[in-house]
Amino acid sequence: MKLLLYPGTFDPVTEGHVDLMRRGLNLSDRVLVAVADSKSKDPFFSLEERVAMIREVTREMKNIDVEPFSGLVVNLARARNAGAILRGLRAVSDFEYEFQMALMNRQLDQEVETMFLMPSARYTYLSASMIRDVAQMGGDVSTMVPPEVHKRLRKKLAT
Ligand code: ADP
Repeated sequence: MKLLLYPGTFDPVTEGHVDLMRRGLNLSDRVLVAVADSKSKDPFFSLEERVAMIREVTREMKNIDVEPFSGLVVNLARARNAGAILRGLRAVSDFEYEFQMALMNRQLDQEVETMFLMPSARYTYLSASMIRDVAQMGGDVSTMVPPEVHKRLRKKLAT
């Protein structure tokens, strides 16, 4: 497959997200990580910070691009001629939301497929929101996020 589009909020990028990017790269020529502005979610990290963190973390990975976006994922998928949208499935709890979104995206554009991959079992319990909460309460999240992200989290929480 030519290009896989991996959209998300990535607030911040976790080891689970990186695991999914690696799996995507095994199946396609390129992965485009599209960072949604997600204004309605009032993200902890700014869009610029989220993009910068993913660029740092994927520096050594080949065939990966990172860009910010707003608006409909299907529009970006069409503009970039993506073979599919990549999303992660951790537990049954992800399923309903992801299923709804995939079918909505199909309704918006019949040509765009969504592909789901499962992360390694050790990352199935990881979510960016839980990592933010635990870090804010002083818990150790160093094994759940890449070192660059851990550094930024500590810095941001110290200010
Ligand atoms: P969104 O706001 O689009 O849900 P997220 O950054 O929370 O953005 O998630 C982006 C994608 O990454 C989603 O498909 C989500 O299921 C997936 N994802 C999140 N955490 C993990 C993880 N630990 N392992 C695998 N996939 C994950």
